[in-house]
Amino acid sequence: MWSFVSTWHFSAQATQAGMEILEKGGDAMDAAEAGIRLVESDPEVETVGKGGFLNAKGELELDAAVMDGNTLKTGAVCGVRGFEHPVTIARAVMERTRHNILIGTGAEEFAREMGIEECGMEALIAPNAVEVWKQNLGLGHDTIGAVVLDETGKMVAATSTSGASMKVPGRVGDSPIIGSGFYVESGVGGAVATGLGEDIMRTCCSFRTVDLMRAGLSPQAAVEQVVRTAHETIVKHGGKPDCIALVCMNAQGEWGAACNHQGFTYACANPDCPPKVVEVTPIIDKDA
Ligand code: ASP
Repeated sequence: MWSFVSTWHFSAQATQAGMEILEKGGDAMDAAEAGIRLVESDPEVETVGKGGFLNAKGELELDAAVMDGNTLKTGAVCGVRGFEHPVTIARAVMERTRHNILIGTGAEEFAREMGIEECGMEALIAPNAVEVWKQNLGLGHDTIGAVVLDETGKMVAATSTSGASMKVPGRVGDSPIIGSGFYVESGVGGAVATGLGEDIMRTCCSFRTVDLMRAGLSPQAAVEQVVRTAHETIVKHGGKPDCIALVCMNAQGEWGAACNHQGFTYACANPDCPPKVVEVTPIIDKDA
């Protein structure tokens, strides 16, 4: 059975595109990349790719990652400027280098060498993102993260984001960091995160979710335990948790989702379930 789950309502278009590939017997990585590229190209999505939120200097720096659950190979890019599809660069890092992560100008040079289309940063900056930057709102951040299972049993995870708005130039969140923003192992499961990267990284949420599924927990039980533990651990050590949300999937294609704040949504589809968007009830409310 194939299955696709991805973070936020805006990923519904990714789920639809992924489904069209998977139901023809297509590859999980092709489905994840095709879906995420659509969201990266959508200027209405203010936190991913074109139209994404700007850093403190008014520049657009993008992060993305992919992981192949069959091989445990991963590729990620951080702080990439002037490329509409960081997920495609991340995939090239995985498939065409010996490395896991490339950053900034090195990632951009690599993308050029690979013939990946470059459009320049200005072409990716939306008027609304400039307005948000001018008003110095410093509020927004969301990621598209997808976990995908194909008919062969291969599982992949992939992410793409502009990170936190008004971030210090060079800041990297959890989304391109293995184990934090994403993790997947075919035969076990996968997880992807969205929320404040600083909090998700210090609690290694995605790897922990997959490890709990490995230990036998259902996707829902695993992801709830991880969000609750992450939240409570930060509190225990004197911190104030920001947004933490994850979706996950086991090797049977079953989903789980949990968050510590209102308003988190995800999109999903499998052969028995046409694409739909689900709103998640928080298990803890960080604002309560
Ligand atoms: N986790 C992303 C980051 O911190 C943003 C988000 O998903 O909300 O860069």
